[in-house]
Amino acid sequence: MMIVMKQTATEDEVRAVVERIESVGARAHRSSGEEVTVIGAIGDREHIARLELEGNPGVDRVVPILKPYKLASSQIRHDQPSVLDIAGRKIGGEHFALIAGPCTVESRDQLLTTARTVHAAGATMLRGGAYKPRTSPYAFQGLGTEGLRLLAEAKAETGLPIVTELMDARDLEPVLEVADVVQIGARNMQNYALLSEVGRSNTPVLIKRGLSSTLEELLMAAEYVLKEGNPNVMLCERGIRTFETAYRFTLDLTAVPVLKELSHLPVVVDPSHAPGRRSLVEPLSLAAAAAGADGIIVEVHPQPEEAICDGPQQLRTEGFAEYARKVEAAAAVAGKTSFLAVAAA
Ligand code: PEP
Ligand code: MN
Repeated sequence: MMIVMKQTATEDEVRAVVERIESVGARAHRSSGEEVTVIGAIGDREHIARLELEGNPGVDRVVPILKPYKLASSQIRHDQPSVLDIAGRKIGGEHFALIAGPCTVESRDQLLTTARTVHAAGATMLRGGAYKPRTSPYAFQGLGTEGLRLLAEAKAETGLPIVTELMDARDLEPVLEVADVVQIGARNMQNYALLSEVGRSNTPVLIKRGLSSTLEELLMAAEYVLKEGNPNVMLCERGIRTFETAYRFTLDLTAVPVLKELSHLPVVVDPSHAPGRRSLVEPLSLAAAAAGADGIIVEVHPQPEEAICDGPQQLRTEGFAEYARKVEAAAAVAGKTSFLAVAAA
């Protein structure tokens, strides 16, 4: 249920509603918009209905949330998009984020070269995996804690917030020490124990859509994180399996405006993993930005030919600045403010 407070409601009236919701064992999620405060009451519907909150002072109306994902739904925020602040960089609403970096952290030189290039080109955050989900158990699995240490070094030098994947809850502590955004990979999108675990932290989480997951399943994954109290969630479209074999996955760009209709959460697009080929990454990035994505997470490498994984799809550091300018122009078409100006400031 959603309790919409009157514009004139006082803090005490809001608090009284929250207390009554909690008195029946339900959770109250407050969201204060510019005009009104809305309280999402999540729990046993009948218990909440019996409270007859319509009669509480300061309450305007009580409306059911129709979607199964309550906290992720756009309804709970009155169609106002959420804007997340990630170590001082904003994403959502009019704010666009360009997240760039290698698929995997391979060496100090590789990571720092990439970090310096993307930073100079105006990227908003640095990506790089220290723990990699590989199809083959014999393939390189990532540098682990050494990779995290290198990411921390790149952050200390450039100031770029770090986006890195968490695959196993046992690595939560060391990952949270370095990550400004924890990435939950496509293969773990429905790892509910892992989602709940990151939900109990306050670190922003980027959830990638599963290889064969519907948008509703993606939103339910987000709900697992939100339900635990972490409001800092981003959704990521990275391509899904279809019958097409000309490229790795089909980037579902329809997901961008649809997710933004269904949810208030920022929507990021990964244009690298779907095509699996460098030449297709730029057109897909521009299409995603023009379609209204709140950010792009793209793979970049100084020597893609030598990359340990995903070499053919990684953009070269050379030419990245030009790519960033084009992405910014495409994002402007969708009404985003300049992220390059923010980087230069
Ligand atoms: C990645 O970002 O490097 C990655 C493995 O992505 P996904 O989980 O989308 O395959
Ligand atoms: Mn990759």
